[in-house]
Amino acid sequence: MKVFKFGGASVKDAAGVKNVANIIKRFGDEKILIVVSATGKTTNALEEVVSAYLQNTGEVQDKIKVIKDNHINICKGLFPSDEDAVYTHLQNIFYDLEKFTSKDIPDSNSYVYDQIVSAGEMISSIILSHYLNLAGVKNNWLDVCKVLKTDDTYREAIINWEDSTQKTNEILRPLLEKNSVVTQGFIGSTIEGFITTLGREGSDYTAAVFANILDAESQTIWKDVPGVMSGDPRRFQDAVFIDELSYLEAVEMTYYGASVIHPKTIKPIQNKNIPLLVKSFINPDGKGTKVFGADYPIQYPPVRVIKDNQSLLTFHTKDFSFVADDTVGDLLKAFAVANLKINMIQTGAISLQAVVDNNPEKITKVIKLLHNLFNIQQDNDLIILTIRHYNNEVIQKHIADKQVIITQKRPSTYQVLYAK
Ligand code: ADP
Ligand code: ASP
Ligand code: MG
Repeated sequence: MKVFKFGGASVKDAAGVKNVANIIKRFGDEKILIVVSATGKTTNALEEVVSAYLQNTGEVQDKIKVIKDNHINICKGLFPSDEDAVYTHLQNIFYDLEKFTSKDIPDSNSYVYDQIVSAGEMISSIILSHYLNLAGVKNNWLDVCKVLKTDDTYREAIINWEDSTQKTNEILRPLLEKNSVVTQGFIGSTIEGFITTLGREGSDYTAAVFANILDAESQTIWKDVPGVMSGDPRRFQDAVFIDELSYLEAVEMTYYGASVIHPKTIKPIQNKNIPLLVKSFINPDGKGTKVFGADYPIQYPPVRVIKDNQSLLTFHTKDFSFVADDTVGDLLKAFAVANLKINMIQTGAISLQAVVDNNPEKITKVIKLLHNLFNIQQDNDLIILTIRHYNNEVIQKHIADKQVIITQKRPSTYQVLYAK
């Protein structure tokens, strides 16, 4: 059994949905688990609904209407009848959204975020499922919340593997024996039934979780690029296609920020030795990149990964004492409590520097926890460039005109922090 994941770009309009149906048709009668993201930029639009609701700006219903009209338009390009059942199914989702945002604001902003933003995947999966049935690809639509169980860390929910495995085997597996199944990426639910989300761009990860539980033969993520390249082609015009990647290389690349694959995707498929194919929905005949447990060495070109919007936090001990193990311990604990990942770290005699994503909420938490122990300085608008499999020529090419702040070299990885 195969698991496919289609991202927002692939279903951004009616032509996109038709193209996805044509791709699935290539696989004949195979029963495929199809995981889909919200269409185009819908998740961003829903984030705006969340802000408007929380700030009580009075624009919530208008913003929902724009999203609704956009999806009705997509449907008009797909379904010949205005009476198609898809409209009733969608109406239920928009009704719930309108109702939720008409009530008093609950206490937790993250809870609110998940209840609202999750609508994007519900909507896209309903449209895709109805359209596939119309186009002759028999499938069942599944509310993923019935099978993908998580804890209640809203916005960054952690999968409950035991419950998810049990529910998947009980509900999803029998469905897949009969037909293909269309379900939502990115979302899950607590055991009490409240909707959660797995973190932005999390649909690749959803597909990997199911591939793992269902022991899939492969997972394919269909993207708007030929596969994994030696850099984001939007930023590096000279990026070249990479046809094979080991799990290890993929994990490294995604860890440093190669956004073509969500970083959590690799572990579940590596654990079951399931190959991951990154293929183009624009050119489905293309070979795509295969990520797998290679048992021979693969030669890679220099691979460049950019992380934008970085902040450098510099901690100076207040009394001129050395940065010792216990000070480092205090620091790392504060980052763990604030759930703020350190992207680069460097220690000096009486100072320590950490580079993190500029997440004001999390940074404020860290500063609050540590300001008694350290003088803290924050510098923003920085960029980390990571080059895997570097050579001097490629380093020079990329840093020659930059205002470099920190550089670090390890055998296969070069990193530089520079000002924007
Ligand atoms: P999805 O539609 O599945 O959400 P994304 O937009 O998240 O897809 O991922 C595809 C994008 O990833 C590409 O359009 C490309 O700009 C970007 N990208 C970043 N790094 C790479 C890379 N190394 N190779 C290919 N694409 C990359
Ligand atoms: N729709 C979600 C997002 O835009 C999840 C995803 O696309 O993977 O972040
Ligand atoms: Mg994405």
